[in-house]
Amino acid sequence: MPVEFEGMARVSEPLVAIENVNKHFGELHVLKDITTTVAKGEVVVVIGPSGSGKSTLCRAINRLETIDSGEIRIDGTPLPAEGKALAQLRADVGMVFQSFNLFAHKTVLENVTLAPTRVRRASTSDADKRAMELLDRVGVANQAQKMPAQLSGGQQQRVAIARALAMEPKLMLLDEPTSALDPEMINEVLDVMVQLAKDGMTMIAVTHEMGFARRAADRVLFMADGQIVEEATPTEFFDAPKSARAQDFLSKIL
Ligand code: ADP
Ligand code: MG
Repeated sequence: MPVEFEGMARVSEPLVAIENVNKHFGELHVLKDITTTVAKGEVVVVIGPSGSGKSTLCRAINRLETIDSGEIRIDGTPLPAEGKALAQLRADVGMVFQSFNLFAHKTVLENVTLAPTRVRRASTSDADKRAMELLDRVGVANQAQKMPAQLSGGQQQRVAIARALAMEPKLMLLDEPTSALDPEMINEVLDVMVQLAKDGMTMIAVTHEMGFARRAADRVLFMADGQIVEEATPTEFFDAPKSARAQDFLSKIL
C-alpha cells in the first residue's frame, strides 16, 4: 500500500514544470514568458511557424541552452547548471533531433550501447542485450551490425530513438524527428513514436505531423513569436483553433 500511495503522489506532480521562462539571443526575444507543465505519461505536441522558438524551448529543457529568467524543473528539481547533476539530467531526458546524429564510425549496435556502457557503466553483455531489445522494438534489430550510412533515413532515425531509450529516460524530447525524411519513411518513425506514447512515455514532440498529433497527443501547444498562443486538445486545436494566428498557420499546412 505505501508504495502505491507514493506512486500516486508522483503522478500528480508534473514531470516538467516550465515557469515564466525568457530567453534572448542578443536583441531577439525568442522565448517570452513561457509557462506550462507536462505530467508524467503525457504527450505534448508543439507546433508553430519556423522561428517561433520551438527548438530553443526543447534545448532549454535539456539545458543545451541557458535561459535568462524563469525556471524549468524536471521531477521537481531545477535544471542543474553543470557537473554530475547535469549529466544525470541529460541521461534522464532523451533527445532526438531532425538530423539523426548517429556516430558514423560505430555500428548501429555500438551507437545504442555507447552511453549505457560509458555513463551508466553497464556491462557489455547487459548493454548488448538491452540494445538488441530496443532495436527490435523500433524494428531494426536485423541492422545491428551495419554502419549508420548503410541504413535508410527512417531506419537511422529509429536507431536514434533506440539510442535515446537506452538511457531509460523519464522524458523524450523529439524536435522535428521526421522533417528530414523522405515521405515514405515518415510513417515508420511516427509509428514508433505512437507506440512509445502508448507505452506511457512522457513526450514533448515538435512536429507538424497532424496525424501523429491526433493519434498520440494529449495536448497541442501552439507557439508563435516566442509565445504559447494556444494550448488545447488535438481535436479542439485542429477542428476549432481559437486564435487568428493558429487559424492562419493551419490554413497553410493542412
Ligand atoms: P523554431 O524551432 O520554432 O523554428 P528556433 O527556436 O530554432 O525556432 O529559433 C527561434 C529564433 O531564435 C529564430 O529567430 C532563430 O533564428 C533564433 N535563434 C535560434 N538559435 C539561435 C542562436 N544560437 N543564436 C541566435 N539566434 C538564434
Ligand atoms: Mg526548430
